[in-house]
Amino acid sequence: MTECFGILQTSGITVDDAPGPVERKSRDFFWYSPILKRQLADIRGDFLAIPETEDEVRKILATCFEHDVPVTVRGAGTGNYGQAMPLRGGCVLLTERLDQIGIHTGHVVAGPGAIMRRIEDRARETDQEIRLFPSTMATATIGGFIAGGSSGVGAIRWGGLRNPANIRRIRLLTMEAEPQVIELTGHDVHKAAHAYGVNGIITELELPIDPATDWREVLIGLPDMAAAIACAFAIGRDDAILSRMISLFEPGIADRYFLRHRKLVPEGEALVAVYVASGDLAALEALIARLGGQIRFRDGEHEGRFPDLYELGWNHTTLRAIKVDPAMTYLQMMFSDDVHSDAAAIKARFGDELQIHMEFTRIQGEVRAVAMPLVRFTDEARLEEVVTILEGELGLTVFNPHRVTLEEGGMKAPDLDQLEFKRRADPKGLLNPGKMIAWEDPDWVPQDGRSYLFGTVGGGRT
Ligand SMILES: Cc1cc2nc3c(=O)[nH]c(=O)nc-3n(C[C@H](O)[C@H](O)[C@H](O)COP(=O)(O)OP(=O)(O)OC[C@H]3O[C@@H](n4cnc5c(N)ncnc54)[C@H](O)[C@@H]3O)c2cc1C
Repeated sequence: MTECFGILQTSGITVDDAPGPVERKSRDFFWYSPILKRQLADIRGDFLAIPETEDEVRKILATCFEHDVPVTVRGAGTGNYGQAMPLRGGCVLLTERLDQIGIHTGHVVAGPGAIMRRIEDRARETDQEIRLFPSTMATATIGGFIAGGSSGVGAIRWGGLRNPANIRRIRLLTMEAEPQVIELTGHDVHKAAHAYGVNGIITELELPIDPATDWREVLIGLPDMAAAIACAFAIGRDDAILSRMISLFEPGIADRYFLRHRKLVPEGEALVAVYVASGDLAALEALIARLGGQIRFRDGEHEGRFPDLYELGWNHTTLRAIKVDPAMTYLQMMFSDDVHSDAAAIKARFGDELQIHMEFTRIQGEVRAVAMPLVRFTDEARLEEVVTILEGELGLTVFNPHRVTLEEGGMKAPDLDQLEFKRRADPKGLLNPGKMIAWEDPDWVPQDGRSYLFGTVGGGRT
């Protein structure tokens, strides 16, 4: 370890082994999960490496390979399953200086460390916009989103990251004595997308961007959950209404956790949050009136400061709940086609222990609801029991966010393509070790079929 650090230092690459920075950069939002918070509390790397060019990344990988030093990449560290935490120590490779952005007509070429907010701003200068982004776009990197995220704002139009139309090209370096460049396109991008950096270090990404739309923020109040579910689906399925995000919150979530917006929402109302094209506002208003809803908030029309609306949705709903009540956590699951029954069954079984938050996405052309319910945490055994009941009794697919491995979290089964690609790209198993069970335990049996976090292979686009 010391020799490896010394060689990198003398070769002019920025490295740092001061305990404070190393500890800070060895952590992500793992504390979102009370289980991971306990399990991963003492995890830290041995040193940081901060490359400025792809060639420096190559040198770091070759040197670490020679000395058998693990390498875990970190973007902004906003992943909330401990994805970026170096379970076996070693080098934490920071991508913050690999942040170049090239905007072209219809696509962006970016370094992995480019912040998503900056990419959106640069795209907007050319009247274009990002297709899909996480609610952490203000700080998250594009490399971290592709390697560690799953979906986000834009999903109602374009589906999640599993939709091959959402990633055009991934360029990465392998972990070998002489690291090789590999470029993945088409369906092959899924060999390295959402792989937590276990099978290559992404050094460049090419993503589609689209003509910009003027989006407006709208919060709609509905009398109950059933009305809110009907409203969300009606908006998502209406061809006359272009939307970028549709989120749903059961009655009580706004009152308790949306500290800025709650004064505008009468107690007991369910809420639907929408980004709608400004040209389609009139059509949205007409639809809401027919469905018995009331617009409670529109951007620019109220006194005071409000966060961007997307910072109420996706995983920011959980963050808002945790800020008010540190005993809150969450789960992630797909609903069946009968969302009304699934939601009613959850409420009947769990009452206030689970508070329903849904995001609407498009999978193979269909509008689908995914659930990210808030969970009132009591102890680990009860959280495991809740998952068992949801899967066993209610027949829902839970993507457990309280697990650090790819298989036990989003994938539900080993991804054999990613495993095969790892054999080629990381023969010593030094990249982010501990995150892919199948690498270390070949007897871990794949389940039938594949379910991906918030999407399927070939998830649709409009
Ligand atoms: C409040 C909150 C809201 C969130 N909302 C969303 C959401 O809407 N949608 C969503 O998908 N996620 C969401 N997340 C999770 C996370 O913020 C996003 O996935 C984000 O895009 C991660 O980016 P990052 O730069 O922070 O990545 P990091 O956390 O630094 O890394 C994520 C993973 O990618 C790997 N990685 C990073 N860079 C590279 C690289 N160059 N090559 C190979 N591997 C690499 C890391 O090793 C790690 O495994 C949320 C998290 C929080 C805390």
